[in-house]
Amino acid sequence: MAIRTYTLKSAQPAPALRIDYRSQLNEEQLAVVEAAAGPTLVIAGAGSGKTRTLTFRVARLIEQGCPPESLLLLTFTNKAAREMLKRVGELCGGLADVRRIAGGTFHHVALSLLREFASALGYSERFTLLDREDARDLVAASIGDLGLSVGPRRFPKAEVVLDLISAAVNTEKPLEEVLVDRRPQFLAMLEKIGAVAARFAERKHEMQVMDFDDLLVCWKLLLTERPEVRVKLQERFRAVLVDEYQDTNRLQGDIVDLMAAGSRNLTVVGDDAQSIYSFRGADFTNIIEFPARYPGCGLYRLTRNYRSTPEVLELANASIACNRRQFPKELVSARPSGPRPALVPVRDVYQQAEFVAQRILELRDEGVSLSEQAVLYRAHHHSMEIQLELARRGIPFVVRSGVRFLEQAHIKDVLAYLKFVHNPMDELAFKRVLKLYPGIGSGIADDVWALLMRLGDRTSPLAALQRPDVRQAVPKRALPGFERAADTLLDLADHRLQSAPGEMVQKVLSGGYEDYLRDQFLNGEVRADDIRQMADFAGGFATLHDFLSEVCLLAEFESEDVVEGSEPDEQVTLSSVHQAKGLEWRAVFVVWLADGRFPLAISLRQPAEEEEERRLFYVASTRARVELYLTYPLVAAPRDNERTLLKISRFVEELPDGEKAPYDRLRIEVSPEPLVLPSATVAALPPVAVAPECPEGAEHRRR
Ligand code: ATP
Ligand code: MG
Repeated sequence: MAIRTYTLKSAQPAPALRIDYRSQLNEEQLAVVEAAAGPTLVIAGAGSGKTRTLTFRVARLIEQGCPPESLLLLTFTNKAAREMLKRVGELCGGLADVRRIAGGTFHHVALSLLREFASALGYSERFTLLDREDARDLVAASIGDLGLSVGPRRFPKAEVVLDLISAAVNTEKPLEEVLVDRRPQFLAMLEKIGAVAARFAERKHEMQVMDFDDLLVCWKLLLTERPEVRVKLQERFRAVLVDEYQDTNRLQGDIVDLMAAGSRNLTVVGDDAQSIYSFRGADFTNIIEFPARYPGCGLYRLTRNYRSTPEVLELANASIACNRRQFPKELVSARPSGPRPALVPVRDVYQQAEFVAQRILELRDEGVSLSEQAVLYRAHHHSMEIQLELARRGIPFVVRSGVRFLEQAHIKDVLAYLKFVHNPMDELAFKRVLKLYPGIGSGIADDVWALLMRLGDRTSPLAALQRPDVRQAVPKRALPGFERAADTLLDLADHRLQSAPGEMVQKVLSGGYEDYLRDQFLNGEVRADDIRQMADFAGGFATLHDFLSEVCLLAEFESEDVVEGSEPDEQVTLSSVHQAKGLEWRAVFVVWLADGRFPLAISLRQPAEEEEERRLFYVASTRARVELYLTYPLVAAPRDNERTLLKISRFVEELPDGEKAPYDRLRIEVSPEPLVLPSATVAALPPVAVAPECPEGAEHRRR
């Protein structure tokens, strides 16, 4: 038998350029797509097609024969990368398997590279990831290891220490500098915080775990400390492309430079006017100094905006012009004219929520599907009344900015107090409350509940809280916590309060929960504000029973609606401005435009921060394609029987007014006839009839 060799050749399409770039891109964009390999910087305003241009550049590289696995595409979210690559796949029509392109966020790409190379750094390739909560617990354990949790001087909480360590890592600054900038009150503890950081790092390494920051740090270490890996990676990636480059931090900037150091084929696109992540260490000097780092780089600008109508753009341009630190940009709309943005003063947050909900449904009747509409706000908790109002009217929505309001831990904590008082057999609520106090974990909470059941008369654990024999039987170390919990619960059980649920919520806060929040969380104040808003909301109900019934109903609606993978096709997006970066909708509501809310008061401690807040407003308004609504409540919700007048946001105030105002003012009139809501929680919405984007006379519709 003869053995013959048979050579198999895989078919490779000839590298012919098939995509008709000219029909899809303008001259400026085309110039970027066709720019020769080499360092390339695109600085351009919102909606000018940066992301689109980057997508086409990737497609062109593929067309020119670059193997997909030699391309690295870094984006702000993994979803953005997936969408861009899907588009590349469509454009290239099967020319290459675009799934082999390394694309995603910095963290995502870091993880996959480290799965391959972690051993070079002494890690097992099967290292596990620590999420934020785990990381915080490990910092707490490290503080404990060093015996720092006890002592006469207050050592910062684990959450705060973790944030400081993280800031130092991401900005590549010494801890001392970070402390001076962010938490000068802890400067005296610099050495100790440093020791905790070291212990934390040691512990992570012992356990073979990495937190999110480690992913980036280790990626950089591979490139700086492991020449054999560096050479491999620099040879592997023949082109590096980065979207939203203005929001990279120091560490990410370095990684990009190192990854591209071999090919020097680096394309970055960004908009300094949209840099909104300095609190996470983003540093727009990365983009500003790009030409200095890469002398002779290609520098491109895109000047036509394809997203928004001239009316929307006029408002956004007028706003960003108030910033001093920026590259001035001329951005001209390439779209037909549409309605002018509407400025909508509303009585208070409830009217704001009603306006938004009603207008959303009207827009839908006019042919704008719910998925083409978004509500944007500066802080997640600003969405509370709107979430509740949408839920009440059965309008499906998705929240991008975080956990849905009623699913947040601190909201659930407070509700637990109320639920237990309302129904003292609610074991879960009781244990949740108890575990908020020092020295009490699940084990003790179980024991205490058993105790109440044994010593009480079984039908009223609330009454049993007062019994001396119960108090005596509680383990010593948990006793102070138990007593405080019991006192607060007994206080709440006061009959007069049962008809004032708003006051009950306030009482939980003032009865120690606010201190708890401050101690536990860096953003404790924001969380306390959430609770105060909940108190206002609760204040609108006649009894505790009514309040809890409504809240539980809404919570149920919410959890039904968020089941992974069962997203209804059509839902309104609720998002913080930060999470809305890069996205667009036909109709956008920017809410809570009162000074102190947007700009957010706590973000205005330094002058530079006002400019960052204004950039946020610019990002918010440039998300709209056609319709933009700016709403601001005239009074804050009544709290302690006081009405606080609000000032309109300086970002609206400073815009030209009178004849030159880039908006129309909408006056709200309350109809004497209330709207009767359908009895079912979720109203069945009829299918939407899609309307053209800018119909003639669209500006009259609103009146
Ligand atoms: P942002 O700064 O918000 O990230 P961007 O500069 O990345 O915006 P893109 O999202 O790429 O802008 O584009 C904005 C919108 O304009 C998209 O809907 C895009 O498809 C469209 N667009 C961009 N360029 C063109 C063009 N040449 N022809 C038609 N539509 C375009
Ligand atoms: Mg973009």
